[in-house]
Amino acid sequence: MYDRFNRHINYLRISVTDRCNLRCKYCMPAEGVELMSHDDILSYEEIVAIVKEGVKNGITKVRLTGGEPLVRKGIVDLVRMIAAVEGIEDLAMTTNGTLLEQFAHPLKNAGLKRVNISLDTLDAEKYADLTRGGSLESVFRGIDAAHKAGFDPIKINCVIMHSSDEPDALVVKQYALENGLGIRFIHQMDLQTGEFSKVEGGEGGDCKSCNRIRLTANGGFKPCLFNDNCFNIKEFGVTEAMTKAIDAKPKLGSKNLSGKFYNIGG
Ligand code: SAM
Repeated sequence: MYDRFNRHINYLRISVTDRCNLRCKYCMPAEGVELMSHDDILSYEEIVAIVKEGVKNGITKVRLTGGEPLVRKGIVDLVRMIAAVEGIEDLAMTTNGTLLEQFAHPLKNAGLKRVNISLDTLDAEKYADLTRGGSLESVFRGIDAAHKAGFDPIKINCVIMHSSDEPDALVVKQYALENGLGIRFIHQMDLQTGEFSKVEGGEGGDCKSCNRIRLTANGGFKPCLFNDNCFNIKEFGVTEAMTKAIDAKPKLGSKNLSGKFYNIGG
């Protein structure tokens, strides 16, 4: 489907949960967040039905995100179900990698094609501080498992404050280079202020070529990360919610006063 600005929308990013096993300082407050009610979270059958409807409307690429997608029970089953949908050419996941050691092989066997792993520093203490308790070692084991499972490419998402020449970013870049990993630098953003920038090494943040819509874990279609509109399938039905989101895609992202990275997917 094309939006009002003649952009071809073929990419659906699905947040499968708003729960996460980390508490990254730039993503979630220390005290945690008010979580969606379990009753409101889409079932896997509902998600697959939405993907099928998406395919009818031109969706060919799906990315699973969260929260942390690997904390949702049965995530491998969801991957298998989406991979089996005719018309889905690319199925990817963004994860913090801490549980990939356990999941990399089953995910690959289920049909996941690509994985992006979030990693901002190679300093174990800083990592634990930034993520409020995360283990850097578990991410390394996850990356290793992703390699062994045959994922290619594996890309690192590295959040930076100002520049990809910051010391931590340079170390992560070197590590990526030495380990055959792609790397994308994402400026730390604040949805409320509306300040965003292009992802270095990726496609995000470039409004004129935006091809994506987003689905929240409780069934809300969002036209843009930097936009307050949200059309829930429970109110509008799948087709209308999706169409409304595509029609509401702004020319340029502005501000999002109601959503956060952890419940839209980043
Ligand atoms: N839990 C998964 C992960 O860590 O990759 C998926 C969800 S997370 C919200 C998706 C991406 O959003 C991660 O790469 C994360 O670094 C990024 N992110 C979260 N908060 C951000 C912020 N304030 N500015 C820029 N990127 C952010």
